[in-house]
Amino acid sequence: AKGQGGGGYVLFDRGMHEEALRRLDLELDLRRAQEKDQFEAYYQPIVRMRDGRLTGFEALVRWNHPERGLISPAEFIPLAEENGLIMHIGRWMLREACAQMRRWQRAFPRRPALTVSVNLSARQLLHPEILTEIRQTLRETGLSARHLKLEITESAMMENAERAIELLEALKRTRLKLMLDDFGTGYSSLSYLHRLPIDALKVDRSFVMHMHERADDRSFVETIVNLAHKLGREVVCEGIELPEQEALLRQMGVEYGQGYLYSRPVTAAQAEMLIIDDVAR
Ligand code: C2E
Ligand code: CA
Ligand code: CA
Ligand code: CA
Repeated sequence: AKGQGGGGYVLFDRGMHEEALRRLDLELDLRRAQEKDQFEAYYQPIVRMRDGRLTGFEALVRWNHPERGLISPAEFIPLAEENGLIMHIGRWMLREACAQMRRWQRAFPRRPALTVSVNLSARQLLHPEILTEIRQTLRETGLSARHLKLEITESAMMENAERAIELLEALKRTRLKLMLDDFGTGYSSLSYLHRLPIDALKVDRSFVMHMHERADDRSFVETIVNLAHKLGREVVCEGIELPEQEALLRQMGVEYGQGYLYSRPVTAAQAEMLIIDDVAR
């Protein structure tokens, strides 16, 4: 019995050990990735629901791993949040996205209103220099603040709500747009919503996904949309894959949509083709 127990322990330990090694390996690679330029910005179109016109893009980071290929941010962003590398990745993404949008605005003067949305992690939001950094990035890339949107999750906001609200107010004064990301997945920011100086809510994909087949998801989305509109906020719905979902959201008066129905996240070169298509419409 003793031997069996010991064997069981060893097995369990080895499993833990392998998992820890795998994580450590990924973490080392992640540190190296920064130096070696392995990150790439992808862009996913955000369209106006009313007429399907392109309004801008959400910038989404990809990691082009030399051995493992493209790695999803769902896999490495949480790790980067833990070890602080998110500060470097986030800083790089912000600069890259602003510079790219500025180039597009120069190339397509007939579409000056296009915006770029950048995700901001909790760590970035709470960083004391964040405001200075954003202002400096805008100045250095030449993008005007009203063409930049920052996406902040409810959970990031709730880590320190008072401080977050203060910071958001300061950000608003620079005239950029603020979006509350992953709305509905966190807890209880409903009670805060009217106090947050945000321009729009982004309804999480998990609610949009089943709304055409589940009445309760549909009611949930409709309630959120009505509430947002009563508070004078706009709504963006992510994860739209089906025309049925689009039709329902349009009926509800949702302003903007994003999802595979329109386009997956694509490279900057592919995104440029989408701008060209839209200009030609
Ligand atoms: P998110 O901010 O909620 O971004 C939307 C995610 O939904 C993206 O996943 C996008 O590819 C995916 N998506 C959009 N439309 C559809 C659809 O119709 N169907 C399906 N199945 N998926 C759709 P992605 O690019 O894998 O990013 C995952 C998460 O990683 C993001 O979720 C965001 O939280 C985080 N992330 C990505 N880039 C950055 C970044 O630069 N900084 C930070 N802090 N987080 C990032
Ligand atoms: Ca490796
Ligand atoms: Ca987002
Ligand atoms: Ca989401």
